[in-house]
Amino acid sequence: MDRLLKTEESLRKNGFDADAFESADACVAELLRKIPVDATVAFGGSMTLKEMGLYELMKEKGYDVKWHWADKEDNLLKKVQERKVYITSSNAITEDGKLVNMDGNANRVASMLFGHEDVYVICGENKIVENLDAAFERIRKVAGPMNAKRLHVNTPCVHTGVCSDCDSPDRICNAETILHKKPGMTNVHIMILKGTFGY
Ligand code: SF4
Repeated sequence: MDRLLKTEESLRKNGFDADAFESADACVAELLRKIPVDATVAFGGSMTLKEMGLYELMKEKGYDVKWHWADKEDNLLKKVQERKVYITSSNAITEDGKLVNMDGNANRVASMLFGHEDVYVICGENKIVENLDAAFERIRKVAGPMNAKRLHVNTPCVHTGVCSDCDSPDRICNAETILHKKPGMTNVHIMILKGTFGY
């Protein structure tokens, strides 16, 4: 079976709402159909969302969207916890339908677990991995070092390209979560896009 379809099926078995899309445009159209324009929306830090231009697009459509990568407000990370909808990506999705994420401040992983009514997780098929071991490896070899570079921190992985489970004061990997199944009080909608998005 096609890897993307297999993953979509596994995610559904684990209680997630999951769909695969041929293009980012098709995903955005579905997202705008599902989220009411009067819903309060917050974004997690995500290169995938940035590459899609989703923040600008939702603003243009009249959505009340907050994103700490775009809006400069005091205590924004705390304030967005009250929002109805949270949109983010994932560091890895396993073929058997689990979401694996590493976070520094843990705001993103916390929001994926509890507090928002609906969480939308948008990922390119490049985030699909075989199993949990491959997910951890992806985080150590791809997501961690690439995000450290993006943030211009001074960690070993910025220089070597590989995680050494560092003790650096700049370390960006502090909280790792696995969503084995849909959390009880949060509707998690996973949208997988054909192609490569984010890291
Ligand atoms: S734990 Fe340290 S070395 Fe490993 S990816 Fe995170 S910041 Fe880089």
